[in-house]
Amino acid sequence: MESFKNRRTFAIISHPDAGKTTMTEKLLLFGGAIQVAGAVKSRKTDKHATSDWMAMEQERGISVTSSVMQFPYKERVINLLDTPGHADFSEDTYRTLTAVDSALMVIDCAKGVEERTIKLMEVCRLRTTPIFTFINKLDREGKEPIELIDEVENVLNIQCAPITWPIGMGKRLKGVYHFLNDEILLYESGKNYEKQQARTIQGLDSAELDEALGSELAAEFRDEIELVQGASHEFDHQEYLAGKLTPVFFGSAINNFGVEPLLDAFVKFAPEPQPRETLSRVVVPGEPNCTGFVFKIQANMDPKHRDRVAFMRICSGVFEQGMKLTNTHTGKELKIPSALTFIAESRESVDKAFPGDIIGIHNHGTISIGDSFTEGEDLTFTGIPSFAPELFRRARLKDPLKLKALQKGLEQLSEEGATQFFRPLISNDLILGAIGVLQFDVVAHRLQHEYNVKALFEPVDTRIAYWVSSEDDKAMKQFKNRNEANLAIDGHGHLVYLAPSMVNLQLAQERYPDIVFHKTTETL
Ligand code: GDP
Repeated sequence: MESFKNRRTFAIISHPDAGKTTMTEKLLLFGGAIQVAGAVKSRKTDKHATSDWMAMEQERGISVTSSVMQFPYKERVINLLDTPGHADFSEDTYRTLTAVDSALMVIDCAKGVEERTIKLMEVCRLRTTPIFTFINKLDREGKEPIELIDEVENVLNIQCAPITWPIGMGKRLKGVYHFLNDEILLYESGKNYEKQQARTIQGLDSAELDEALGSELAAEFRDEIELVQGASHEFDHQEYLAGKLTPVFFGSAINNFGVEPLLDAFVKFAPEPQPRETLSRVVVPGEPNCTGFVFKIQANMDPKHRDRVAFMRICSGVFEQGMKLTNTHTGKELKIPSALTFIAESRESVDKAFPGDIIGIHNHGTISIGDSFTEGEDLTFTGIPSFAPELFRRARLKDPLKLKALQKGLEQLSEEGATQFFRPLISNDLILGAIGVLQFDVVAHRLQHEYNVKALFEPVDTRIAYWVSSEDDKAMKQFKNRNEANLAIDGHGHLVYLAPSMVNLQLAQERYPDIVFHKTTETL
């Protein structure tokens, strides 16, 4: 019977270029969701240069595949959520990590633990998300495996339990040894695009290993394994679930080396959908009523449909097509007649969705990131971060007649949460706030391609934005009257104080003690 128990929902975390896209593709290949690797294009927001991002962005029609991918594997249904690796898109990644139950960390064997890996690991730690580790690119010369284990343990402060161990490295890479199954898996290189069955030798002591490697190499490898066993942690399922220990796999994603053992162990050990906190109580997946929260919004995902989709993680109950759910933020009931599910390369209409699953809901501007949905109960899921913009620019139109389209574009793109859009009370400026500078290029590019508006972003003297509220209407009125020049309305109609400096903000805070200044909209 279908239930949440067979769902496994996770994301891949890695530094750009470690092999996340390649791994995603191989998982889909082994999951039978695609037949030939190379078919899935990535959204590639991870790339370093804007130009790379733009080039990939032009192929956005298929990008739907990379946001959420669902595929069955050995009695389980896997939901793989994509996260952009580039630091300028980190708020998207952090929010996506709130919607998963575990993560897979991919590390480049030549580079070891890199800066983004450290950051993302910190985010996972906030919610004690269990982590699998795959050390990739063993078909190239890299650091010694034992050195990599040490590095993960020391830099990321997590115990490592190797599950597979590489036989050789670079050109000498032959396959991996599986500690738990006492199996040798030998691979052939050059079979990058199709699923390949490893040749399996049962038992490290098998004479077949001597035959396959030559007795000298085989003896050396047996010694190495003995050494590793003595020096590393044993796999402990509970410790893994508690986020204290990570099972480690070695391989080469591009050659399919070691990917299948990773996936097999993943479906065996990764946690089923976990309970989620709300402001008032913990929601467990087995509860009868359907609940969920929105962690991501994407505008114009499919250029043919030009729609905006809100991604919701189901937290409890069963979602059925046509269901009515209440958005507890707005208090409005919403009939959801055509929710989407995302199978490898296509989006399909969903019949039923279980906790752990992600559904796409068509959004007409009434759904915001962080909104909770229930069958009526007033619940608010917590922990979905909102971010304070750190950079501000004024949008300048090249064609003044396109003001309406510009406004609409900025408004809709800002629903995605990567940028925030402000309209000052006393000028006609349109100001955009972002965390990473790349966002301005991305928005300009998307305005042109998705809204047919050519705009530039130029400097403004805003440095900080704080949302303001007050219980005291009179104090608020006075504050508004005296500070019109610094006040703006955001995309949701909230009042924001735009300060040119920290000193200016502090002065305003001192002068108006009855006004509450909020760094993000979370506390509004
Ligand atoms: P991402 O930025 O983390 O998504 O990384 P990609 O999957 O795009 O990989 C970055 C580069 O590393 C690409 O050129 C891949 O072809 C290459 N790559 C990925 N996996 C392997 C591997 O196992 N071995 C080698 N040699 N290259 C790999």
